[in-house]
Amino acid sequence: MDIISEIADLAQYENCAFVPTMGALHEGHLSLIREAKRFHIPVVVSIFVNPEQFAPHEDYETYPKSLDQDSRFAKSAGADVVFAPSVETMYPNSNQTITLPPAATEPQLEDACRPGHFRGVCLAVARLFDLVKPTAAIFGEKDYQQFLVIHQMVQQYKERWKNLHIIGAPNIRDDDGLAMSSRNVFLTTDQRTQALAIHQALNEPTEKKMVEMLDQHGLDVEYAVIRDETTLLEPVHGKPIRALIAAKVGNVRLIDNCVRNNSS
Ligand code: AMP
Repeated sequence: MDIISEIADLAQYENCAFVPTMGALHEGHLSLIREAKRFHIPVVVSIFVNPEQFAPHEDYETYPKSLDQDSRFAKSAGADVVFAPSVETMYPNSNQTITLPPAATEPQLEDACRPGHFRGVCLAVARLFDLVKPTAAIFGEKDYQQFLVIHQMVQQYKERWKNLHIIGAPNIRDDDGLAMSSRNVFLTTDQRTQALAIHQALNEPTEKKMVEMLDQHGLDVEYAVIRDETTLLEPVHGKPIRALIAAKVGNVRLIDNCVRNNSS
């Protein structure tokens, strides 16, 4: 399997199934690659730690990097090529802009906690879509708001990415329930145990109880909410809902979410 970084080398992979990542691949990423394989077209995995989506105080500098191991993992899951562009390739000029969709500005979840984050995500993903020209792109529901943002962005720019389908793939967890994340490597053994409260809290019946559960285990809660699954705004009677959490264990910020039964 090839690792490429030049735009010219992408031409042969046009109309592929595409899996964008920031690397430090784990079983969650590999599940997206396996999902991409189901299309029976070439599978391109990108690895790019995107500086634009990190705030200055966040962990861009220390974000785990492991291109050799990532390539082996990607190949083992069936990827045909890894595209690992430089920052210069991704951002050849500094005046790239993007119109953010409602899911990036209204829910007051990741958008409120990480101002500028989705602008960075959308800039990078839009550039990748322009370069890779995929037919399908697979995103994990682990980052549920991001999945909605990308989905809406593609709908908003219908003419730009005419034949592109955005596919959501399930949130993959370790056996004990912790959602897989590249940042889990930063957790100490004790913090990892503490972090299990996130998965437990997702099943609490009310937002108040979710927060209580996280507090009890010493997590620093950014949000713990139950929202409408399509808009991420307040739940609407009879419409599907999702519980979403962002919390810090020590310095490690973790997010998770799951579908809930809307019995209200
Ligand atoms: P990242 O490398 O963290 O930017 O993630 C790249 C892609 O992998 C995104 O679409 C994520 O939603 C997805 N992803 C990350 N963790 C998981 C997981 N535990 N289960 C499913 N998809 C995941």
